[in-house]
Amino acid sequence: MANKPVLAANWKLNPTSAGEAAALIQGITEAARSQDRVTVAIFPPFVWLLGALELLDGTGIELGGQDCFWEPSGPFTGEVSAAMLGGFCQWVIVGHSERRAMGETDQQVAKKAGAGLAAGLSTIICVGERQEQHDAGQAAEVVTGQVTAALAECSADDSHRLVLAYEPVWAIGTGKNADPEHAYKMMRLIREAAAHLIGAKAGLNLRVIYGGSVNGANIEQYVELPQCDGCLVGGASLKADEFSAMIRSTAAVYSSTVTQ
Ligand code: PEP
Repeated sequence: MANKPVLAANWKLNPTSAGEAAALIQGITEAARSQDRVTVAIFPPFVWLLGALELLDGTGIELGGQDCFWEPSGPFTGEVSAAMLGGFCQWVIVGHSERRAMGETDQQVAKKAGAGLAAGLSTIICVGERQEQHDAGQAAEVVTGQVTAALAECSADDSHRLVLAYEPVWAIGTGKNADPEHAYKMMRLIREAAAHLIGAKAGLNLRVIYGGSVNGANIEQYVELPQCDGCLVGGASLKADEFSAMIRSTAAVYSSTVTQ
């Protein structure tokens, strides 16, 4: 049975005040509440998570961390563990390209993914090629390598909570969203690579989503794709009206297809 599609709002290092975070949540609550076809999950900075938790009560919107550390506790200054997030969140993102660009390795991504899943979190693992790799025709090779490395600590039992996000680095925050045909090919490849590693049934159960300059004007091109179980949205998720419209249009697309 396929999983429910997800629309994930990665707020990154925004907004800069608790009041703005609250306003953003209030601005998307109605759209999220008025549908049940798509899981809406928000990923605020760590400091806004507990405030968000209170505001999300009764909205159906789920909550996640933008990153996590694999050790549950100990002398790791500045880190937040997957186990801590698991106490009150449903989700975590690992391996975002903005973290990989700061030195995060494939091995660290694998440990974070394993810890997220072990903590009971639905875990989004981001993969995607950089511009020069794309231009050199290496997208498939790079992404297959990232998937293989990232799933080192995952098993078929995790598949219902596993989400692989195809996020070409050149599309993130640039306004250069991927051609849907390229996104489709890469999402199919990602699912096949995962199925090869953790089993054919698991490959059907896990979700594969697209991220990279998705906005209200282009989201339907992605969520209509057969391999696409939703989107990871950065910049456009900070505009409540636009993100609300994206929730509505995504729910409408999935209402006309079999999702559960
Ligand atoms: C992201 O942060 O994962 C992302 C896809 O950002 P944007 O939508 O702004 O490209």
